[in-house]
Amino acid sequence: MDRVIVVGAGLAGLQTVVALRGQGYTGALTLVGADPDPPYDRPPLSKALLMGEVDDTTLDADWDALEVTRLFRRRAAGLTAEGLLATDSGELAYDGLVLATGASPVRLPGAETAVTLRTHADALALRARLRPEARLVIVGAGWIGAEVATAAVRAGVRVTVVEALPTPLASALPASCGQRMLPWWSDVDLRLGDAVDAVEPDAVHLRDGERIPADTVLIAVGVRPETAWLAGSGVDLTLRGAVAVDSGLRTSLPGVLAVGDCAAWESARYRTRMHVEHWDNALHAPTTVAANLLGGDQCYDPVPYFWSEQWGRMVQYAGHHPAGERVVWRDGEDGRWAAFWLAGDRLVAALTVDRPRDLVQARHLMASARPVDDALLAEPGVPVKSAAA
Ligand code: FAD
Repeated sequence: MDRVIVVGAGLAGLQTVVALRGQGYTGALTLVGADPDPPYDRPPLSKALLMGEVDDTTLDADWDALEVTRLFRRRAAGLTAEGLLATDSGELAYDGLVLATGASPVRLPGAETAVTLRTHADALALRARLRPEARLVIVGAGWIGAEVATAAVRAGVRVTVVEALPTPLASALPASCGQRMLPWWSDVDLRLGDAVDAVEPDAVHLRDGERIPADTVLIAVGVRPETAWLAGSGVDLTLRGAVAVDSGLRTSLPGVLAVGDCAAWESARYRTRMHVEHWDNALHAPTTVAANLLGGDQCYDPVPYFWSEQWGRMVQYAGHHPAGERVVWRDGEDGRWAAFWLAGDRLVAALTVDRPRDLVQARHLMASARPVDDALLAEPGVPVKSAAA
């Protein structure tokens, strides 16, 4: 193999070129990215950048050592024939291809004047709107909604959050967790179970007829994999539009692999296809992609992890909890708490609030699949690792 193209110059794309060179690939390497900027980190966009603590989140890369042809502002448009990638300015030939085109925010029909937050440019533009007394309506009380609301409240913005579901973070966490988080939202006008009917340049209309005036409307109702450009290419997609890959991150086309937010892999650990749209996955999965593109046979089957910083708290989650698992709560007197999900006597997921050590130890327990003791898990003074039987 001597011509590899990586499509998508985000964290997963950058990590893939780094891993390919690190694993000894010496052929031609091209990184194609639609964004005008070199790869940058997204988590700070809704945190430190919005709060004015950083401007630049560019990821470190030694481009000279990597010897990568960088084609930024260049959008992949399809796979035209075996071994040819179509882009908005011509075709590129490859023997190995990695799809790392990430995800894009879901937009609401008729809400063209509203903003979304995915890119560095989005974040700078949103920050400029976070002025004292400005009125911000956020549609969606998910991870991004919570983090933007945190930064906006700190900037003195008057924030309304409209969420169709009955609790914050309800598409990711059970209602029992969201209920516990409700007091965190006390500085915003939080409308739960309320659906948006229409978005105008200066207001949001709710289904019940109420009009909420707004200087800015942010739509934060989730993301969708950036894969429409693969239509007709022969690359299989899931129902949600992610690239369907096997346990080695290979797509249905030989020589084409996929990684990061755009890909959903077959997990033996969870006996299901996993689609994880979080930073840790984009950071680590490229090692497997590079190895398998170069002829290896590695399996990618991690215990997934993500974090969110909101309302002055560090919220972390590891694992995977299908509905119906048993929950054990751990409550510290200091307001720091954790939830552990168990399948039988095995820990399958953990959510921690300002308890990072618990999270690290829980993640190890999940990876080891050792049985755990409920009573010890519930005890805030006991190290989580000591709950292993
Ligand atoms: P992306 O970062 O989306 O990169 C994909 C790249 O592909 C983009 O640069 C895009 O321009 C490019 N591209 C798309 N289509 C094409 C095309 N056709 N041709 C060429 N290039 C294309 N995760 C956490 O775990 N914790 C957090 O706290 C957290 N905070 C976040 C905050 C924000 C504001 C955002 C947006 C995300 C956050 N995430 C967080 C998620 C995390 O950043 C993503 O999981 C990670 O960026 C995924 O990396 P990726 O490289 O797969 O995709």
